[in-house]
Amino acid sequence: SPRPDWLRIRADFPVLTRQVHGKPLVYLDSANTSQKPQQVINAVDEFYREHNANVSRAVHALGSEATEAYEGARTKLAAFVNVPRDELVLTSGTTFAINLVAYSWALPRLKEGDAILLTRMEHHANIVPWQLVAQRTGAAIKVVELTPEGALDLDDLRAKLTPEVKLLAFTHVSNVLGTVNPVAEICREARKRGIPTLVDGSQALPHRAVDIPTLGCDFYAFTGHKMLGPTGTGALWARRQHLREMPPFLGGGEMIKEVRFEGTVFNDPPHKFEAGTPNIAGVVGLGTAVDYLQAIGMAEVEAREQALLAMATERLSAIPGLRIFGTAPGKAAVISFLVEGAHAHDLATLLDLEGIAVRSGHHCAHPLMAHFGIPATCRASLAFYNTHVEVEQLAAGIEKVRKLLL
Ligand code: PMP
Repeated sequence: SPRPDWLRIRADFPVLTRQVHGKPLVYLDSANTSQKPQQVINAVDEFYREHNANVSRAVHALGSEATEAYEGARTKLAAFVNVPRDELVLTSGTTFAINLVAYSWALPRLKEGDAILLTRMEHHANIVPWQLVAQRTGAAIKVVELTPEGALDLDDLRAKLTPEVKLLAFTHVSNVLGTVNPVAEICREARKRGIPTLVDGSQALPHRAVDIPTLGCDFYAFTGHKMLGPTGTGALWARRQHLREMPPFLGGGEMIKEVRFEGTVFNDPPHKFEAGTPNIAGVVGLGTAVDYLQAIGMAEVEAREQALLAMATERLSAIPGLRIFGTAPGKAAVISFLVEGAHAHDLATLLDLEGIAVRSGHHCAHPLMAHFGIPATCRASLAFYNTHVEVEQLAAGIEKVRKLLL
């Protein structure tokens, strides 16, 4: 098949033609949220213009069209990660997906003396729900530490997979360091010891092919807005046995078969966990995002981003006083950096005046910042729609800002 025409693909993203502060926008914050192609925007627009109705309730034509579109998107999403569609619970994003496991699976099971094992590189979304469970159950939180280059210390991991650990929850790809964790190997270690695993796939799905069954985890959470989809979309995949055993998290419409005041018969999974009217148009848009990514091919996406990352790493490393946090081999296209003598926020603010959007701050990863002994970094995160010219603009922008600040 022909190689993707990346400039034509870039032209699908209307926001990328914007000017910011009189300069062409250089959007390097895709790890925060990705931009959306016109195809996704059209899908949402078309849903509201032509098919809008609630799902699973009405027998009228629009009602069945809406249900078909919504469930069709679930089918696409499930196929994208290679799982059965009835094991995929649609959520508002990763945060909701992890909280669903925390409240529905962990809370009834854990007790004093148990532990939840996390890692030093987790996003707050994969820390705070477990702290809430720990507070309510008396379970302890344990943490796997990192190597200096920002990889998981696998010896430390093995040493901490002890019998009191009832769940290992860790990220597939770090949103700050770009580190890609060896998920299959880690899950195998946990499984050998009978320890279930939850993987935060937020930063993996947009950038590489993810085949959930080969990972061997128990739960996989992800968010739609980082993979070209609308905000307020995402999913939790869980093993069928867990979905059967888990009580509902939220109660309401859609998630029941029969309601009487004496008691309610819950719907089958995944609907048992989808109370209330969902983000129908958003999910339809996410289905189109999946089509879009598949049309390019995830291997092409990954190769493109790796090429941009290699160039960015080379260019940024050559800037005096610039330090990159996260240098593990095989990392994803995220570069966290600091420039000696410059505050991360000052750097980001001055880069913004050049039209360059990078994120500065702790990136919802306080414990990781503590590991490096810093309060914040600047983070440039790349997507396939970025260009080599933009990488050059980033490097030139940092050089210019550095001279202003020093
Ligand atoms: N985990 C990771 C690794 C993330 O990068 C993010 C988003 N920054 C989240 C979880 C939370 O995702 P959401 O806000 O979409 O629920």
